[in-house]
Amino acid sequence: MQTYSEAALRKSFINCTKGASQRINIPKEVLSTDWANEIFLSWTDPKSPQNAYVVAETSKGLQGLVMERKKAPAKGGARMCQFCLTLNSSTGVSLMSIPTAKSSKENYGSIGTYICTDLECVAYTLGKKKPEGIRQMEESLTQDEKIARLLENVQGLIARIEESLKK
Ligand SMILES: [Zn+2]
Repeated sequence: MQTYSEAALRKSFINCTKGASQRINIPKEVLSTDWANEIFLSWTDPKSPQNAYVVAETSKGLQGLVMERKKAPAKGGARMCQFCLTLNSSTGVSLMSIPTAKSSKENYGSIGTYICTDLECVAYTLGKKKPEGIRQMEESLTQDEKIARLLENVQGLIARIEESLKK
């Protein structure tokens, strides 16, 4: 079993202040996750579900993002998650707003991206979950290739935010 300490998880967040990272609600099941079976970690704050978090192992160690889930549009066609490329109904994917500054006192900016509302990208990629009634793209990738692509997409977003933080 491979886990990270609560302190390591809190330290991983690149786009919030140290103080804010101490206040992040990290559920017990997140702390006891066995990383050997995961691709990356994601969760929402059970008390304020608009607050969403992703943490992944990157070439720079453990890195995490603080995100804000915007309300899903009530109408519209299927949308693709930018992490796992799963097609979901319009409510199955949410716009996530990711701050590109450590605090709102700095020049505040954000990057928006569409991610599975339930943040279950790992389950979709492993074939453990499927969106109801949405036809998926035919893909010839093996599951290992899909897992690698998912991790690359998450790491890519983290790198993009990190790049914006430096500006
Ligand atoms: Zn997804």
